[in-house]
Amino acid sequence: MPATTKKRELELKDFPPGTVTEFTTLVCLACIFDIFTKQLGLAPRTAFSEIKRHTPTTEELTSRSATRPYFDSDEKHPHCPYCGSAKRWLARFDTYCVEGGKSTDAARRALIKKLPATGDQIVVVEKKSDSRAVLFEWLDTLGLNLDLSDERCLLDVTRKYLERREPKTLWEEVFEPVRAVRRSNRLNEGWEIDGGRLFLAPKIYGEAILIQYLVSRSHTHGGLTLEGRLTLMELIRRLRYIGYLDQIGITEREPGEVFEKLIDHLAANHDWSRVVSAKESARGTGVSTGSGSDRVSSKKTSGKASKKSSKSSKSKTAQPEPDEIISEPVKLYYLIDRREFLEKVKSVYAAYA
Ligand SMILES: [Zn+2]
Repeated sequence: MPATTKKRELELKDFPPGTVTEFTTLVCLACIFDIFTKQLGLAPRTAFSEIKRHTPTTEELTSRSATRPYFDSDEKHPHCPYCGSAKRWLARFDTYCVEGGKSTDAARRALIKKLPATGDQIVVVEKKSDSRAVLFEWLDTLGLNLDLSDERCLLDVTRKYLERREPKTLWEEVFEPVRAVRRSNRLNEGWEIDGGRLFLAPKIYGEAILIQYLVSRSHTHGGLTLEGRLTLMELIRRLRYIGYLDQIGITEREPGEVFEKLIDHLAANHDWSRVVSAKESARGTGVSTGSGSDRVSSKKTSGKASKKSSKSSKSKTAQPEPDEIISEPVKLYYLIDRREFLEKVKSVYAAYA
């Protein structure tokens, strides 16, 4: 192999933070060969050429619970959990999921242009998604690296949420002295720091505990928030009490309906699919309609951008109309790196020939 193929990592520095998600999945070549010969009944030589053409689905590559012949492992010397095969039978797929949109379009096109053009070494798969799905994926990724037994984790979740809500601010620095997060009785908008405590305006605080609930609720009963462990009913009661439901115009009483509206609001009103760069948001609001963007719909884009761009402008636009909230389509681009797979298939089956 020429030396250049040794460089595995794709160059991602031109993408804004949080717009590319990386997945690694291992495949056992002994198992996949077994599936193609025994289950599908192919002759070894045919199986070999079919396997070379094989690309797993994006679900197989990104799912948390991989099934044979795929598996996940953090070990340095992993073994196949299905048949025990060691390293030389195992190949790695690296998958990069790029969220389509104005802030990533140029970087994505440039990256794809640079990819090796032959032999399907890197396959690009496009998938339509929407803001709701992107929100849940974001929550999912966030929840993966979370240690709920550690109290700091609620601060981390709060910081990640604020990074998405207000990307211009250097939250890493803001959080440096922060030991606790509280709801402010004074502020109507924004936040302030006082003696190691971060005070959030009620609306932001409400959203922060909603995010905390959503991230942690799958781990055990209820969700872990700054208000303690809450059931959905308790969460809704809390959000109503602090005025969050009124502020975003939710008048429903039935918990299931309230929950659906909350998710719709959250998905549509912050952009979970991409981070607006400081430059873009400083330039203001009128420029962000979707021409040239791969975003399928640009409905309300400019309105959203203005809400996000500065704390002061929020006060004028803080009342969305719930009926107009839509789940906005987003395009996802999966770049599937098959290079190691192709090399391993070749070397393993050289032994067969
Ligand atoms: Zn195996």
